[in-house]
Amino acid sequence: MARHYFDANATTPPLPRVVAAVAKAMAESWGNPTSTHREGQRARHLLEEARRALAAGLGVPPAELVFCASATEALHLLIRGLQPALGHLPALVFPGEHSACLNPLSGWSAVRWMDADPAGAATVVQMAASNETGILYPMPAPPSAVRVKDAAQAWGKVPVTLADCDAAVFSGHKIGGPRGAALLWMRPGLPWTAVMEGPQERRRRGGTEDLPAILGLAEAAAELPSRLAGNAGLAPLRDALEAEVLSWSTDYLAIGRSLPRLPNTSALLLRGHSGESVQIALDLAGFAVSTGSACHSGATKPSHAITTMGFTEQEARSVLRISMLPGTGPAAVEALAAALKKILKRQLS
Ligand code: PLP
Repeated sequence: MARHYFDANATTPPLPRVVAAVAKAMAESWGNPTSTHREGQRARHLLEEARRALAAGLGVPPAELVFCASATEALHLLIRGLQPALGHLPALVFPGEHSACLNPLSGWSAVRWMDADPAGAATVVQMAASNETGILYPMPAPPSAVRVKDAAQAWGKVPVTLADCDAAVFSGHKIGGPRGAALLWMRPGLPWTAVMEGPQERRRRGGTEDLPAILGLAEAAAELPSRLAGNAGLAPLRDALEAEVLSWSTDYLAIGRSLPRLPNTSALLLRGHSGESVQIALDLAGFAVSTGSACHSGATKPSHAITTMGFTEQEARSVLRISMLPGTGPAAVEALAAALKKILKRQLS
């Protein structure tokens, strides 16, 4: 059976040039970049070339980029590293944030949700785009706060600016790169201390760098201009899909439809259905989609990202997230709509 992948916000398939670069680096450039012999120096050279290319793409000096293994790790290093200086002062966080941001804030003394008055906040943590709804969020700018941007979902789907923040994280596997490589960017002079000590990455992130994954990330980032264009081209397909689904019932809605959103993402709220059972039925029919729920210790909880928008727990459980890859064509979207229509009709009968 043909498979159709509509879960690009979870992860993306590595691009062919990424697979080739990672395989080549694993075979040829396995030296430790910290070693002083030739093998190590060759690895160091490739590492710094990749850093330069990635920094140029982001418009920042190479020395300001720290290679990490995931955006989750980067957010932990960043937020836990700010905690000694800022953890006792008020922090503002977007309520729909990813757990990768919320978890490292757990030790902070005064965390307030983003709709609180930003005045007096010393730290602000804001995702540029929601992984669940695709909604884009501007960075609030309380004077003198350290502004942290979670750009994991926005990168490669919409342009990302670093002019309105002081630190940001990026994830390789959301842009056709490999797992195992992500970026932490920090403006110099932040009140930050390393929490994972070691000589690597200018003492900001200890641990031998995963050079093959980093080179793969640099390959994926080289494709960002065409990826951005490909993602932008998905908006009409996404809008047509939503118009079709909404025409089936007034109980259905597309979350954030009137708001600026990622062009590839649709969070369909299907009242009267369980998002999980629709997702399973679609999987059996050949379509990979996801629900608005996050799975915690075996129990599927309704998504906080959806309930904090004012929806009930039951409504949150009915959400189906469809997130398209660049290159998705109308035929695949029409096939998805037809399968979904059949499943919803069957579930109601
Ligand atoms: N932040 C957001 C908004 C995400 O969507 C994700 C992953 O889904 C992350 C952070 C974590 O990224 P990673 O998988 O690289 O740890």
